[in-house]
Amino acid sequence: MGSSEHIDRVTDLRAWPGEFPVSHLYTMGIAGERFFRELKENGRFLGSRCAACDHVYLPPSIFCPRCFAALDEWREVGPQGTVRAVTTAHRGVDGGALETPETLALIQLDGADDLLAHRIGESAGLEIGARVAPVLKETPEREGSILDIRYFRAV
Ligand SMILES: [Zn+2]
Repeated sequence: MGSSEHIDRVTDLRAWPGEFPVSHLYTMGIAGERFFRELKENGRFLGSRCAACDHVYLPPSIFCPRCFAALDEWREVGPQGTVRAVTTAHRGVDGGALETPETLALIQLDGADDLLAHRIGESAGLEIGARVAPVLKETPEREGSILDIRYFRAV
């Protein structure tokens, strides 16, 4: 799909229906389990660093696909980050109009080289480059899921 292609319906985006914002986190295996446990129990974000190329993966990976190196160095990243892309969805994944438009962003947590997709709240008019912080559920409510983060908001 070319980037200049016009999309009228969100259902035309093959990767989106039923998958945003958690799809890329479901298959993370061992590293993902540790990431979610740390988020659930301590409200912290763990990435993994490749010593060979100095890339900090978030969500963490147990190997570097660039170097084929095994990764065992964990590094706390965030919790604040910078918005690298932002959009407002007026339709849900089923193509139906949303009562309240939802702002979605790709966020680079401090210290991480990858982007995390999540919702934006309480922050009208947020632009690329804005600084944001996560709003987490209270500890007893957290389930070890990316939705333990309610949303990110401007700081
Ligand atoms: Zn590497």
